[in-house]
Amino acid sequence: MMYDVIIVGGGLSGCSAAIQLADRGYKILLLEQQKYPVHKLCGEFLSVEVIEIFETLGILDAVNAIGAHPIHHAVLTATSGATFEHSLPGTALGLSRYQLDPLLFKRAESLGADCKEGTVVREISGDFASGFRVMTSGGEFTSCVVLAAHGKRSALDSNRPFAARKSPWVAFKSHCDGLDLPGTIELHAFPGGYCGLSMIETGQVNLCWIGHETILQGSADRNLPDALYENPALRDRLDHLVCSPAVRTRLSQISFELKGNFDGDICMIGDTAGMITPLCGDGMAMALRSAEIAVPLVSDYLDGTLSSSRFKQQYQRNWQREFRLRLQLGRMIHTAFIQPKIAQASLNICRSVPAIGHWIIQNTRG
Ligand SMILES: Cc1cc2nc3c(=O)[nH]c(=O)nc-3n(C[C@H](O)[C@H](O)[C@H](O)COP(=O)(O)OP(=O)(O)OC[C@H]3O[C@@H](n4cnc5c(N)ncnc54)[C@H](O)[C@@H]3O)c2cc1C
Repeated sequence: MMYDVIIVGGGLSGCSAAIQLADRGYKILLLEQQKYPVHKLCGEFLSVEVIEIFETLGILDAVNAIGAHPIHHAVLTATSGATFEHSLPGTALGLSRYQLDPLLFKRAESLGADCKEGTVVREISGDFASGFRVMTSGGEFTSCVVLAAHGKRSALDSNRPFAARKSPWVAFKSHCDGLDLPGTIELHAFPGGYCGLSMIETGQVNLCWIGHETILQGSADRNLPDALYENPALRDRLDHLVCSPAVRTRLSQISFELKGNFDGDICMIGDTAGMITPLCGDGMAMALRSAEIAVPLVSDYLDGTLSSSRFKQQYQRNWQREFRLRLQLGRMIHTAFIQPKIAQASLNICRSVPAIGHWIIQNTRG
């Protein structure tokens, strides 16, 4: 059977695209290599703007029923002890990927998308003119359009220029007991990285740090490197938190480059096109939003009202217009926050002139 669209990767952007396209009546195949539910590396902080997208995707009631933790307040600390606090411009949510991803995957299935878990995509070939062939661990499939939503880095990226460049960023996440942080996201800088703490639906605290790979050298416990303990506010939290042995995920080679919106005629959505630095807490909203940008263009292309070249041009233009500056600003504040003196000065400035902190928060999100 020839599908209208094959979507590679059943994370946020892939499921979101599958839901919207299946809802419009197209024949969709959604391929995910893992079997849900699964713990994924993420801060699990869903920014305010996600609520509206969840409503459009028809999962907001289910998210509330799971008991996503409401978050209204952000606290940032520097290694020196400088602190900046800010109210969020609405209600954000703490929800584990263990719950969220399968919820979206099942929603796509309920709307008629053909959803296959445990299916690894090995190769994609073809183009708009002759159609696409997608080779997987579960057989071969064909389609008119392929949306690549396979995330930060995958074997499928081996020929893309960003994959040839090494990235020094490593990250770790765990779910922890021993402390309550109701309604608050905390972001603690330490030399070479930062750590986010916020509550999720289980009542546990999600601990997620990202740092330069050099912080792992010589650390006694390689999950929580010594550098984290240099920030006294974070050290105080870590003294109370107990990480669950069942939920520990790590990732390396995390890239914040702009990776390109197309590889040949394969359209890239979510992290596959580019990821904002985690400090902004907006990667999931961006992944969901990139699917919203792609879907109407895919639809017009399939209906014959948009040529393939206009599809490519318009997706690229719309994506760059919406995300390019945010990604650059995200990289700048990430770089500043991991350097103790700059983090201290920046937080002091934000405390003295809260409008600056407010401007940064506004401009790193949609
Ligand atoms: C340390 C860290 C913390 C973060 N914290 C936050 C946060 O608190 N809030 C926030 O909004 N964002 C956060 N983000 C960003 C956020 O996690 C991502 O931007 C978001 O998950 C992107 O969604 P996606 O759909 O593009 O990719 P993903 O959600 O990663 O989905 C990609 C999917 O593709 C599948 N896949 C890969 N290769 C194949 C293949 N060959 N065949 C089939 N399937 C395949 C994968 O299994 C995966 O399920 C964080 C990122 C990092 C690195």
